[in-house]
Amino acid sequence: MKFPSRLKIPTDVLQIAETLEGAGYEAWCVGGAIRDTLLGEDNTDYDIATSATPEVVQGLFRNTVPVGARFGTVAVRAHRRHHEVTTFRRDVSTDGRHAVVEYGVSLDEDLARRDFTINAIAYHPLRHQWRDPWKGADDLDAACIRAVGNPAERFREDYLRILRGLRFAARFGFEIEPATWAAMQALADGLSRLSAERVRDEWFKGLRGAVSIRRLTDLWRASGAAKVWLPELLATPDGDEGIAVASGETAGPRVGALTARRGVLPTLEVDRGDEDLRDPVLLTALLCLDPVSVLLRLKASNAEIARATGMVTGPEEPASAALIDVRRWMAAVGEAADDLARLWRLRHGAPPAWSAVMRGIRERGEPLTRKQLAVTGEDLREAGMEPGPMMGLTLDRLLTLVVDDPGLNTREQLLERARSLA
Ligand code: ATP
Ligand code: MG
Repeated sequence: MKFPSRLKIPTDVLQIAETLEGAGYEAWCVGGAIRDTLLGEDNTDYDIATSATPEVVQGLFRNTVPVGARFGTVAVRAHRRHHEVTTFRRDVSTDGRHAVVEYGVSLDEDLARRDFTINAIAYHPLRHQWRDPWKGADDLDAACIRAVGNPAERFREDYLRILRGLRFAARFGFEIEPATWAAMQALADGLSRLSAERVRDEWFKGLRGAVSIRRLTDLWRASGAAKVWLPELLATPDGDEGIAVASGETAGPRVGALTARRGVLPTLEVDRGDEDLRDPVLLTALLCLDPVSVLLRLKASNAEIARATGMVTGPEEPASAALIDVRRWMAAVGEAADDLARLWRLRHGAPPAWSAVMRGIRERGEPLTRKQLAVTGEDLREAGMEPGPMMGLTLDRLLTLVVDDPGLNTREQLLERARSLA
């Protein structure tokens, strides 16, 4: 690849570089923004690498946050945006998850400790120079994910790099260079040392950004990463080593039955721009048997786990697209209705007929929850009913009535029904 003679760098980033260079330090743009710009993709999230130590960086700028001060990263705030400024560093020792770093090294030494060649290209935003000692630009041309230097050493220093490599391969549709791939497979067991949070971030980012979700899941399985962190990942019928799981040989007949029923294969490709469907919780529910266990293991938030629970509990669709069936189903599944409709769309490749019915029910404000009833427990008490469990049951029965016939949802009619129920 021939490097462009100059890149258009955002003014904020230029100013940060000017301040650092003006004070006698080096400042280079590195990482994802350089890689993506060379690939013709938008990315204004510039990382700056500098010879200044974190203390110096904090002294030079008014508005800073030490995001990873221990690893040399300081976020510099300019016009409401943060830009990460990281000191040139070298790993002194590592346990595969955290590194002890040393400053006072050169740009080239810093680039040598980065994960993949395509992430180890530097551009000087003021002098318009390029530095690419690991030939990352050639790998961008060749659509190749290659570790910097010795892949096994890189992965032992930080096992997360294995997952990052899978993510970049799926995101750009790149191949993984054979020695890098062999090291990923050989060292995948080391992924068990990572924290659940870092793994979750990678899995979620991977689902959001992959050009092909199918490719991402095939890579997670074939590398061995799924075995460690996502054993519930369903096989795609003709995916790598997927056949055994799909026919139930390794994971038991239930997996086979579910895979067949869910038929994940034809609808796995979701437009990258479709944020509605590129939802990592939704996709985890689509792709994994027992997504609740997966999200618990990955320490997802309570809200995310509740969503997965709603999707698993179902029922996954109304008995029919008839108004009354759709209302009954919406009342039963509550907040999970939208997720279930999206899941249906992912499984079948088109929105269900009942999603338009759902919209109508909402537009007309038809009652689906106890809160929407025209009477409250208080009203029933005033009408002379005893408070207690019976009253709760009565409210539930009133709700069943109005779900079937929203016209009944008036105070008079419901009080009268309540009396006859009592
Ligand atoms: P993204 O588009 O996801 O932001 P990125 O490559 O910019 O991709 P960041 O996590 O923002 O990823 O990291 C910025 C740069 O820091 C990377 O391009 C890479 O050079 C380096 N880097 C990040 N994480 C690691 C890691 N675990 N090991 C080695 N180098 C890393
Ligand atoms: Mg980045």
